[in-house]
Amino acid sequence: MSIATTDPRSGQVLKTYEAMSDAQVDEAIERTHLAYRDLRSTTIAQRGRWLTAAADLLEAERDEIARLMTTEMGKTLAASKAEVTKCASACRFYARHAAEFLADRPADASAVSATRAFVRYQPIGPVLAVMPWNFPLWQVVRFAAPALMAGNTGLLKHASNVPQTALTLESVFRRAGFPEGAFTALLVGSDAVDRILSDPRVRAATLTGSEPAGRSIAQIAGRELKKTVLELGGSDPFVVMPSADVDLAAEVATTARCQNNGQSCIAAKRFIVHTDVYEAFAEAFAHRMSALRVGDPMDDDTDVGPLASERGRDEVDAQVRDAVDRGATVLCGGEKPTGDGWFYPPTVVTDLRPDMRMWSEEVFGPVAGLYRVSSYDEAIEVANGTPYGLGSNAWTRDPQEQERFATDLDAGAVFVNGMTTSYPELPFGGVKNSGYGRELSAQGMHEFCNVKTVWVGEGAATAGAGAHAE
Ligand code: NAP
Repeated sequence: MSIATTDPRSGQVLKTYEAMSDAQVDEAIERTHLAYRDLRSTTIAQRGRWLTAAADLLEAERDEIARLMTTEMGKTLAASKAEVTKCASACRFYARHAAEFLADRPADASAVSATRAFVRYQPIGPVLAVMPWNFPLWQVVRFAAPALMAGNTGLLKHASNVPQTALTLESVFRRAGFPEGAFTALLVGSDAVDRILSDPRVRAATLTGSEPAGRSIAQIAGRELKKTVLELGGSDPFVVMPSADVDLAAEVATTARCQNNGQSCIAAKRFIVHTDVYEAFAEAFAHRMSALRVGDPMDDDTDVGPLASERGRDEVDAQVRDAVDRGATVLCGGEKPTGDGWFYPPTVVTDLRPDMRMWSEEVFGPVAGLYRVSSYDEAIEVANGTPYGLGSNAWTRDPQEQERFATDLDAGAVFVNGMTTSYPELPFGGVKNSGYGRELSAQGMHEFCNVKTVWVGEGAATAGAGAHAE
């Protein structure tokens, strides 16, 4: 895959980059290795000032960065602006809270025969971040802000279609004051990842992307005994029960499916509706989906822009065609448009069966699968019946049902009467084939820390009761 900015509105290649040579990559790894030595000995307060300066730059340059993101991957300009703002506030969040998250955590010293015992959080070194194009700034910042605050350095291998966004973020961190090499964008293809992650100076990796990419990174990291966090795909359920506010559920469902032109890991993708409210929901949902305006993402009036790549659109179209050929019904959309740009209309497909691709695969575009169920148990069975477990949504005003959904949905997050989203304050991640590890909150910061046990005693000759020598 070439490293290039290609306008999804037209398919026109706007700018291409040579992949870095092995020697250039080695130099960058050495720089990040040296930067780590510096960064780990700076204070949290100093790193906080740099991260706050990065937030200031993001806010000051928001419109320009947003235009670049929209040009590279097609999300609406309004969505790009909101993404830049969200990144700035995540930087401020970690600048403010790092001292609390990284503070020594005392343990019960008497229980471990010590005079003092505690846990200390320390950085582990350079971390490789392999990132996707769909939230080209946010996916990176939500890794980079906590990692840098903890004293780690970052090497970014961004998706090949968003090189300018990658370089912009490198420039933001550098201009904010972080030492040279603290955060480096590597312009390389995915074939370079094995070599980079095998380098002993690189201590860990985080990947946000598809399941095959996750398997590949996990294999390399397993061989090299390196820590990984994997944020992979999802096919989130959105369950609507009889007590729900059906109109509101249909309105939120439309946003939850079509945000980011339908290309979000935590987009609701499967709409599982109780038979008592099925007709009302299906009608309201299909009506709202077909009313969305598809067009130029730079226009204020546009709700849904083009998909990011031709290959991505062809895949979505193939999944819909497969369902239709096997007997599914299209309530709206469903036809790939002719003409320039990789547009695809908001689509609702029903009468789905397990032998159709849409039943178990992630659909990465504005296409909703609609399922009718007749009980709570059947809703849970369908909701949990995919290889994924990222986010999930349940709509019910019954407090007991809310509790049951919170426990029974097999996912990294359950949002009741709302749509799944990410907040710096809350952990984010999945189960099953959606990956492992968590980003955001204190948890995300601790993923790339050495959680070090410190035990201080009085020099007794033998270990205390309950101790085990290993
Ligand atoms: P992708 O094709 O897996 O690419 C993601 C990143 O991995 C890119 O930098 C890509 O590089 C690299 N990559 C691809 N194959 C690789 C391999 N075999 N070895 C090493 N690196 C590899 O995914 P995408 O199309 O960009 O993004 C869409 C996917 O990401 C969806 O499945 C979506 O659900 C998932 N996602 C998950 C989350 C989450 O938080 N769980 C968030 C956003 C997106 P190249 O671009 O050079 O190929």
